[in-house]
Amino acid sequence: MSVKGVKGAVKQPRLEPAQGMDSVGDTLQRLRESFSAGRTRPAEFRVTQLKGLGRFLRDNKQLLQEALARDLRKSAFEADISEFLMCQMEVTLALKNLHTWMKDEPATKNLLMLLSSTFIRKEPFGLVLIITPWNYPLNLSLVPLVGALAAGNCVVLKPSEISTSTEKVLTEVLPQYLDQSCFAVMLGGPEETGQLLEHKFDYIFFTGSPRVGRIVMTAAAKHLTPITLELGGKNPCYVDDNCDPETVANRVAFFRYFNTGQTCVAPDYVLCSPEMQERLLPALQSTIARFFGEDPQSSPNLGRIINDKHFQRLQGLLGCGRVAIGGQSDQSDRYIAPTVLVDVQETEPVMQEEIFGPILPIVNVRSLDEAIDFINRREKPLALYAFSKSNKVVNEMLDRTSSGTFGSNDGFTYLTLPSLPLGGVGNSGMGRYHGKFSFNTFSHHRACLLSPPGLEKLNDIHYPPYPDWKQRLVRWSLGPQSCTLL
Ligand code: NAD
Repeated sequence: MSVKGVKGAVKQPRLEPAQGMDSVGDTLQRLRESFSAGRTRPAEFRVTQLKGLGRFLRDNKQLLQEALARDLRKSAFEADISEFLMCQMEVTLALKNLHTWMKDEPATKNLLMLLSSTFIRKEPFGLVLIITPWNYPLNLSLVPLVGALAAGNCVVLKPSEISTSTEKVLTEVLPQYLDQSCFAVMLGGPEETGQLLEHKFDYIFFTGSPRVGRIVMTAAAKHLTPITLELGGKNPCYVDDNCDPETVANRVAFFRYFNTGQTCVAPDYVLCSPEMQERLLPALQSTIARFFGEDPQSSPNLGRIINDKHFQRLQGLLGCGRVAIGGQSDQSDRYIAPTVLVDVQETEPVMQEEIFGPILPIVNVRSLDEAIDFINRREKPLALYAFSKSNKVVNEMLDRTSSGTFGSNDGFTYLTLPSLPLGGVGNSGMGRYHGKFSFNTFSHHRACLLSPPGLEKLNDIHYPPYPDWKQRLVRWSLGPQSCTLL
């Protein structure tokens, strides 16, 4: 079924100069009024929206699969495990836990407020803007959306204009499943998103590049709007000499070439000794052949580069160092072969920018210390991987570096666990989400103290004048020993 054929497809405001900003302003006004009227606050309303999201996923699976295949030639299986299942799991988890997450959280008290009640209220921010990239266009739109809706916000979703087919489904079909007085999709590229960002939002959740992250943060600063920035960068992958090369090759190749390397948490480059490189190369060669066949271009399990601009960028990177495996490309098909580069210089573009494609450079280091120095001289990555049979080596890597996420002897399998947060640090972002972390991200944690209106005599002890006995009593009441009572 094509989007065109969807009955009752919804037209959302497109932030194009020809249409001006009025329709955008009107839409934002409508959402704000719904929020002010308290429409999104009741748990029942949130449950209805979350169920709507679940139905959207179920009813439109084929439509979305086709869209993902058109955008990225994503295989149905990859789409299933990295897009549908993760979205569905987040919806199910939020529905199951919503009432618990919404509950006020009791807070410890001190003696001065023994008769009061203290708690943290998780209240919605209000009008939230979610801006998403193109590489997992469904997952990266819906997973934050689950958190924003569960937390009781009104939401504007701005999907990537680059993954055009998925953008179309999100624009024309998704709103049918949600309350449109509280949810809207807005379309546009850099210019239009810049205009959208001039409006005041109560929270901005951005997933994309560090470069655009800076633009979003600058725009948010004008209104002092709190933000989450889910950014990217270069993720190191250290391979110790004691590893089994076949096992490492399987795991690294799977996570590097998944979604044709267009994954923010993919291992971006390998750091290993020249000896390990010699053992790893034949292992990678045979793994790639086993995964994608002798002619990966004809493999149904390898996707394509999102557009010509990224294809040309990646083709340029193939000229760095020396091609040890792969290296073929075909512009007419936006195909880049799973590639391994060696003899790469730190100063070459492939080691200066996030690769975001099926290219894996290997950089030689002589020791764990040198690998750690190499990593720490660079911006903090979104993900860091360490392969070793030694716990000591893994723990040293963990203790002496920093990154958004960390995996040892594995890739980004942790993303399948909503019990672990996803978020960067430093240049790779700020804030976190997934599961309950999403609910907390999209909630303001309001400190509440409810005191009895009477019993004024009790307050006398902290009013002036301050004789010695009062001072001693108040100091004692405020001291750490009295701060343990619930
Ligand atoms: P991008 O930063 O170019 O675009 C992201 C979004 O920002 C899009 O919706 C786009 O329309 C908008 N945008 C682009 N230029 C803008 C501008 N000048 N002003 C305002 N908005 C603008 O990123 P991309 O190319 O879509 O995605 C790739 C990047 O996203 C990579 O760096 C990758 O690592 C990162 N990423 C991070 C995560 C994560 O979870 N941390 C997940 C996926 C992708």
